Amino acid sequence: MSMQEYIEEAEQALLHTYNRYQIVLDKGRDVYLYDTDGIKYLDFVSGIGVFALGYGNKAYNDALKAQIDKLIHTSNYYYNLPAIQAAKKLKDVSGMDRVFFTNSGAEAIVGMSCGDGVQTVADNVQLPVYPANNTMFLGQVERVGMFNEYCHMCGDCVLGSTGGVCPITKCAKSLVNGPCGGQKNGKCEVNPENDCAWILIYKRLEALGQLDKLGQTRPDKGYAGVAYPRHINLREKKS
Ligand code: SF4
Ligand code: SF4
Repeated sequence: MSMQEYIEEAEQALLHTYNRYQIVLDKGRDVYLYDTDGIKYLDFVSGIGVFALGYGNKAYNDALKAQIDKLIHTSNYYYNLPAIQAAKKLKDVSGMDRVFFTNSGAEAIVGMSCGDGVQTVADNVQLPVYPANNTMFLGQVERVGMFNEYCHMCGDCVLGSTGGVCPITKCAKSLVNGPCGGQKNGKCEVNPENDCAWILIYKRLEALGQLDKLGQTRPDKGYAGVAYPRHINLREKKS
């Protein structure tokens, strides 16, 4: 198979979580990597700092193979020779009294959720919590890897009178009472890559036979008076 055929097969089989370099690696030797066409690369990456001993290091490979044949993983319920020997070596070079091989699984928590999820975890644990994502918006998935913003969670939804198109989110100026007049060929004057929200609203209302809704005037949404963070208590009775 050619390298391109391998790449195409990979794209059919692998979830696209990385934009990979267009090479297929086959083997490594010392500080060099080789692709399936035999082209040689000087490797400055080392598996992103994970594998700094170089490829094909005989002592490392022999030790690994010998141990795999003997014993892989048991548990800290028992003693085992490699742990004893490694602890002794670490103690000698570090000058420390004891070695603690461990991974409790909870020195810190990385939240691969939106900011809301990360904060919910932080509220409930006494551990450092780190966000894996930069939460940007409430949106929809167009297809894998493509997301569109749909709602700013304004707390005063106007979709019923705008044909289901959100002017807060889709208009660059969040105008709720009609367009700014700057659109050109249906595109927004602020970002011409985007459709003008109010052209979309017009077309949707026209298709729905609801153009009369354009005559409605919406009051100031009162953003200036909003104190963050907002709270909702459905148990509180309205007076
Ligand atoms: S008007 Fe827009 S931002 Fe406000 S709640 Fe509705 S969809 Fe969300
Ligand atoms: S061109 Fe349309 S979408 Fe852009 S700011 Fe003006 S009204 Fe909003």
